[in-house]
Amino acid sequence: MALPKRKHSKARRDKRRSANSKMYASNLAVCSNCKKPRMPHKVCPFCGFYKGKPVLVIKTVEEKKK
Ligand SMILES: [Zn+2]
Repeated sequence: MALPKRKHSKARRDKRRSANSKMYASNLAVCSNCKKPRMPHKVCPFCGFYKGKPVLVIKTVEEKKK
């Protein structure tokens, strides 16, 4: 079985690890109803609309306290 001839340096190891752990800003879609940014393919958390139709009844902060 082939074996590595030399030990890879810590810098080389850490470079490889850091290359796969990039932080990406998630893509955001704009809600068709309230124009606020929302996650694509998800119901809008602000107005509860999905594909132009109301799907959820969004409670306001005061309603959640009750
Ligand atoms: Zn919305």
